[in-house]
Amino acid sequence: MKIHVIRDLCTGHARCNEAAPEIFKLDEDGYCVIGELQIEVAQQSKAIAGASACPERAIVIED
Ligand code: SF4
Repeated sequence: MKIHVIRDLCTGHARCNEAAPEIFKLDEDGYCVIGELQIEVAQQSKAIAGASACPERAIVIED
């Protein structure tokens, strides 16, 4: 599974990071900086939780 964050949609709520801080790294202003990331099977549920927590729908999950 792969995820990517659409930077233009990210408004720095940091809710993704609250759900899964080990995946969704933030810059000093609270914006998600991961760009595109391959997710290991063991972390997929965390990645989905983080994506679901984003109110801007800025996190896209790809199989
Ligand atoms: S929850 Fe969404 S808007 Fe907030 S930092 Fe994460 S990706 Fe950006």
